Amino acid sequence: MTLTIVRLYHDLLGTYGDQGNAEVLVHRAKAREIPVELVEVTPGMTVPTSGDIYLLGGGEDGPQTAALELLRADGGLNSAVTSGAALFTVCAGFQLIGSSLPGADGETISGLGIVDVHTVYTSAPRSVGELVCQPTRSHLPLLTGFENHQGLTELGPEMQPLGMVKRGIGNGFAGAEGVWHGNIIGTYMHGPALVRNPELADVLLASAVGDLVEFHDPYADALASERRKTLWPHS
Ligand code: GLN
Repeated sequence: MTLTIVRLYHDLLGTYGDQGNAEVLVHRAKAREIPVELVEVTPGMTVPTSGDIYLLGGGEDGPQTAALELLRADGGLNSAVTSGAALFTVCAGFQLIGSSLPGADGETISGLGIVDVHTVYTSAPRSVGELVCQPTRSHLPLLTGFENHQGLTELGPEMQPLGMVKRGIGNGFAGAEGVWHGNIIGTYMHGPALVRNPELADVLLASAVGDLVEFHDPYADALASERRKTLWPHS
């Protein structure tokens, strides 16, 4: 079986470099000799439904709404996730898979409804800076990234966060950062997040292919540990 990673609309949602998350997954799969292909979906293309891991990044409000409308009209991402595919989404991507969010003019619009989260704009200053959280699944170390968003995101009653904020803002509700629901992760962490948190990349890979052989990339590990130690010296 070839592991298929689907990168969605990075020309719309690539403002913060989140497209690098795909490269990390490909690199860490190849290091384990897992056959892997990266499928690039651009506006106008049909979203394949047979992918294993789907990725969405962050961007400005206009492109965010455009990506949402394309995904809604296509329907392929919702089908793939319903069939069990993994999904990793960042910031604008995280917001648009939720139930509702602000549209390009600030009005409330429906999201894809893949997770029960609601994003709102408030009078609070934009959340910009480094973000550190303690993951809710305890085998993972502290997660780090940088955030840059106006929206604040409230989780529905059945939703679990990706982590609890130790530094920064994250979702801005109840100390939560992101969402983790089955194989679906949403986060406010750019970085790209999977560069700064290689263990999280392995969680996504394992959700698609099962147990992974041990692999340590010394550069990735050094970066992850430098960020953790600098941003949360108590760790
Ligand atoms: N619409 C979003 C916000 O500002 C998107 C930000 C982002 O993707 N970094 O809240």
